[in-house]
Amino acid sequence: MKAQKCPVCDGKGKLPAEFYPDTAESTLKWVECRSCNGSGIVLVQEQVEGLLEFIEEKLIEQKPEEAKEKEIEKIEEEITTEEKAEETKEEAKEHEE
Ligand SMILES: [Zn+2]
Repeated sequence: MKAQKCPVCDGKGKLPAEFYPDTAESTLKWVECRSCNGSGIVLVQEQVEGLLEFIEEKLIEQKPEEAKEKEIEKIEEEITTEEKAEETKEEAKEHEE
């Protein structure tokens, strides 16, 4: 495990209330970052660092209000599914030849 600056809040531990659509209506200006629980630090396993970079890129591409934890989970799932699909494809190829 490795401590890493939270890519969602950039280590600040808090985000503008608009960041999360469900808190946008709130009177709070700042809300605790849900990815790092306000600590600004996330613990990552060495092997998922590349994945986090990928998610970070995705988050930048997306509108901030869409960059919720749910989205991150979805991306993680997509990656797993894609990787599995690749593996299956390659296996199928081997059998054809
Ligand atoms: Zn954070």
